[in-house]
Amino acid sequence: MKNIVILGSTGSIGRNTLDVIDHLGPEYRVHSLAAKSSVDLLIEQALRFKPRKVAILNSHDRKAVSQRLRDPSVEVLTDEEALVSLASDPEADIVVNALVGAIGLRATLKALSAGKIVALANKESIVMAGHLVMEAVANSDGLLIPIDSEHSAILQCLRGEIPDEIKTLILTASGGPFLRRPESSFAAITTEEALQHPNWQMGPKITVDSATLMNKGLEVIEAHYLFDLPPEQIKILVHPESVVHSLVEFVDGSIKAQLSLPDMRIPIQYALTYPERLPASFVATDLTKIATLHFEEPDYQRFPCLNLAFQALKSGNGYPTVLNAANEMAVTAFLANQLAFIQISGFIQEALNEIAPPATLDLAGILNVDRWTRTWCRDKLNQTQRIQ
Ligand code: MG
Repeated sequence: MKNIVILGSTGSIGRNTLDVIDHLGPEYRVHSLAAKSSVDLLIEQALRFKPRKVAILNSHDRKAVSQRLRDPSVEVLTDEEALVSLASDPEADIVVNALVGAIGLRATLKALSAGKIVALANKESIVMAGHLVMEAVANSDGLLIPIDSEHSAILQCLRGEIPDEIKTLILTASGGPFLRRPESSFAAITTEEALQHPNWQMGPKITVDSATLMNKGLEVIEAHYLFDLPPEQIKILVHPESVVHSLVEFVDGSIKAQLSLPDMRIPIQYALTYPERLPASFVATDLTKIATLHFEEPDYQRFPCLNLAFQALKSGNGYPTVLNAANEMAVTAFLANQLAFIQISGFIQEALNEIAPPATLDLAGILNVDRWTRTWCRDKLNQTQRIQ
């Protein structure tokens, strides 16, 4: 029996995780659910999956959740500490971290040091503090399995392989909604257009990140820490069909890839059942119907966020923390119509230029850099005019 904690159960990854658990049968049990603010869906999920504990981030919602659950045996928790406490609950075996943004970091670290299997969709944990996360893996019985489809693909390609024989990790990118849009009309991009992803149904933050290609930049940083390879050995290929989820090139010129129609339930199930594979029929990938697959170099000119991610990674620990915080702030500002799409990368670039994180950083140090960056961003946003 595996007891599963789902942090961020009402988001896209959380809902897909519940669907996977439903299919996996009674050996996989929902131990607890945590959501930020979607009270109705959280209650619906709790009534259906009967967890022992439920957490709602906003403390004002706690009473409503308790009353509507009408089950005194379910413990209702609240605030950010609840995430950390669920992540290290003695009864939990697997922690699915599907939180969005920096808020997921402490839960990831705590779960790993408590020896849990962490199925990680919260890539910001690794981007902010990759060295601390990998240290926590090395110093505990904890296991870190990526849910991100690209990293799951790489993990699958690397099974049975020898690290020294890897030449390049190749992350595929759909290219997002603006793959073919001419640069001359980028100034007119609206939030509605940025929220239309061609292949994946995801939350607003990651959908905007996919439109700027910052999502791929964050994934380069994630891959660097997860697979312990320098940035020079990590490449990006635009692949509009999103069927090849990533590839590994070896020193002998051989390339391995993992393919399927895009469906997050495949990498989610792989993370939950790792190292086993269990039967599932979420998608039937018929290559004769797909017929053709395309690959091309990304356009660093139209999508400067890619360069920013490489720049932050090469600058050393702390800079990805600045990149991540500035990106979260810029995306929030874009969604609130305070920044234009084309201002996002310049805003982040300025944060990287202005903020110099200390060279050695423990968790408190990382959280400080995150805080400084957000304060800097708020001041900057107050002085910034949106380009019309
Ligand atoms: Mg991904």
